[in-house]
Parts: sequence; structure tokens; C-alpha cells
Amino acid sequence: MNWNDVLDHSRNPATPDTRVEKTDAEWKALLTPEQYRVTRQHGTERAFTGEYCEAHAPGIYACVCCGTPLFDSTTKFESGTGWPSFTEPVQDNVIRYKRDTSYGMDRVEVLCNICDAHLGHVFPDGPRPSGLRFCINSASLRKTESGDGDTETKEKVLETATVGGGCFWCIEAYLEQLRGVESVVSGYAGGSTERPTYEQVCGGGTGHAEVVQVRFDPRALSYADLLKVFFIMHNPTTLNRQGADVGTQYRSVVLTENEEQAATAQAVMQELQPYFEKPIVTEVQPLQAFYPAEAHHQGYYRTNPQRAYCQSVINPKLAKMREYFKGHLKTQGA
Ligand SMILES: [Zn+2]
Repeated sequence: MNWNDVLDHSRNPATPDTRVEKTDAEWKALLTPEQYRVTRQHGTERAFTGEYCEAHAPGIYACVCCGTPLFDSTTKFESGTGWPSFTEPVQDNVIRYKRDTSYGMDRVEVLCNICDAHLGHVFPDGPRPSGLRFCINSASLRKTESGDGDTETKEKVLETATVGGGCFWCIEAYLEQLRGVESVVSGYAGGSTERPTYEQVCGGGTGHAEVVQVRFDPRALSYADLLKVFFIMHNPTTLNRQGADVGTQYRSVVLTENEEQAATAQAVMQELQPYFEKPIVTEVQPLQAFYPAEAHHQGYYRTNPQRAYCQSVINPKLAKMREYFKGHLKTQGA
């Protein structure tokens, strides 16, 4: 299913397997006031307030009104919008799509095809393969078949990527904009000194590079896509140098968790080489140890946006990022 299918369905609705119809009074008696307001009166719950916003445990999300299964937790992803987000419904004909031009916007509303409950909207900026983001109100859903605790399941799903491409303040600032990224930690890796300090690393004698370690949800962002953003956002063709920063601590490096990541890194470099005038000199090596940097280096851009470095070096990078990778960024919506 993709955006063209959504537009098709909005013109030619799919026939549901069954229908559930009730009077307004019956729905009112069945639902809580908030569920009634959202589903029967096309309401929107406030962002980040819904019960299922942060839920990632396995299960099926059914229509709160009629109980029809609508979404599977395996298609749920962290969109950063404050509403539960899914890439596709469990079955084509359980959702009805309706062009919605209210509030001066041109959107596609999604409704339960069985009982006409308003669920939310669908947008063409979701992760692949569908490229869709079903932005759904928690109040429209009832979750069934829950499994283990949320945190445990989520932890199992997350993957780690470690990359270095010059000053970590920069890389951290742009990678944390990506949808699917749960955390970015600045640190040191690739050298031999244990628990190095910033001053030691800057001295150049430790062998370490300034790197960031990213925890991400591969259901929302693939390792290959994360690397592509990394390669486009820094210069991988200058040996031991990034802009004005010179030294092995500023080398371009991908530190891999396993053979699969190493193979993906090589493939991405090959794919992107034609876009660079000079050869890509990025090192790909297994990660031995990662040492988080001192606290004041973490989230540097977020805590020091007024500093000259942030204004002159990081801001232009973020602008470039927003232009190139619009579809991959954490977005707002309803
Ligand atoms: Zn329904």
C-alpha cells in the first residue's frame, strides 16, 4: 500500500466485510466522552496525551467503537508527533479514506470502514516501504493481546549505530532530527586509550575519533538510510579533516556492531561515491569500545544555540538537512 492507493481509495472506497451502525444515543452510551468526541464528532486528542502514544508492546489495535482490528503493533513507529503512528492497516478494506479540506488544509481523513468512527489522518511522509504515516488518535483505538512490558520490547527492537565525521556537536544535532532516532550520545571511539578526556582526544594522541552513538528503531529508520544522511551531511572525502578541524580525531569513520552493518556501510559508500568528486575515505571498522563524552558536550546544540559555532556551522547544516531529508524528519501533524 502506498500514497497512490490512498488517493485511489478516497475516490473508490473499498467495500467492508461487514457494517456496524448505531444511533448517536447508542454510541454515547457505549463510549467515554473523549472517545465519543473523537470518533463520532471528528475530534482530535491533544498531542502526547493519548494512552497509546508511547506504547510499543505487541498487540492489535482495534476500533474502539466496533472492535474491528485496524492496526498491528508491528507497523507502529515512533513519529515524534505525539499521536500513535502506523505505516499500514491490517487489511485494505477496514479503513475508509476521505479528502478533508477543513481548517484550510488539504488532508486525507481515515475512518473505520465498518462503523464510520473518525480515527485520524494519513500523510505521505511515513517510513518505507509504504511511505505512509497513519496518524491516529489513541481515543479511537482499543489495544488487545498485549505482550511483555513496553520498555523491554522496545529495547529489544532498537539498534545501535556509531559514526564519526568531525565535531560531534554537529553530527549529534542533525542525527537527532531523524524520525526513528531514540537517542544520540556524543563520545569517543576507535582508539586505544581507556576512558579518554576531551582534552586528550583533542590532543590527537589517543587514536580516538569524536563520534556519536545512535539508538534507533529500524522499523522507522533503516541503518542504510541513517548512514546516507551521515554521508551527505559531512564531507567523507577529506582525510583526517572536517572543514577547519584537522587531526585524526576528526576522521570520517563508521564503527560497526556486526558483519551485516559493515556490509551495509560498504554498499552505501559504493552507492554514494558517484555523488562525490573525490574518493570517499571513510574508515569502516568494528566498534571495540565507546566512551561517552563529558556531560557538557551532550546536546551541545540544544543547550547552546546562541553560540557562534552553532550559528555559523550547525545552523546551515540543519537547514540543508531539512531541505534534503524532509521525509525522514520528526514531524508535527494531527
Ligand atoms: Zn469501527
